[in-house]
Amino acid sequence: MNLDSIYDLKIEDIALGYIYNEKKRDFTCIFCGENFDEGIIYEDDRNFITAKRAIEKHIEREHEGVLKTLLSLEKDITGLTEIQSKIITGLMEKKESKKLAEEMGISPSTVRTHKFYLQKLKRQSKIFLTIMNLLEISEGEDEIEECLKSKKMNEEILKNSCESNTLHPFFTQYNLK
Ligand SMILES: [Zn+2]
Repeated sequence: MNLDSIYDLKIEDIALGYIYNEKKRDFTCIFCGENFDEGIIYEDDRNFITAKRAIEKHIEREHEGVLKTLLSLEKDITGLTEIQSKIITGLMEKKESKKLAEEMGISPSTVRTHKFYLQKLKRQSKIFLTIMNLLEISEGEDEIEECLKSKKMNEEILKNSCESNTLHPFFTQYNLK
């Protein structure tokens, strides 16, 4: 995969691990480029499955799922430190803080602190992404019509920013109305 191109994808597509091309009517794996044609029925373990199911199985089998693949990407791409990656892997494997702490040679309270910080980082990342996306709009196309067409824009954020007076629950929760 050309890792730079992952940034051009929509968050939803990255989460799925594949993109659907409406014109070609096919599914492409974002990690290895393998292609599944919607017009073809795929054979899997003596069953016949659709292209969508086939690519889902491909992601699970060849890449051990999207989360694991994303976590295995370079630090420079994920922005995560080694410790943060380990904590997230532990969460993914549903490990208790105590067990995870033992394995990592740190205290359970440090594990909890890291978990808390990751949640904070998630909230901050949303705001940061929104700010940068809004900046992109104000730099060029002022028209709402145009901003709706903007490819790079996360659709949900776009909707929120285009429909004035509707604030995300995150904001109302903090009385920023
Ligand atoms: Zn693949």
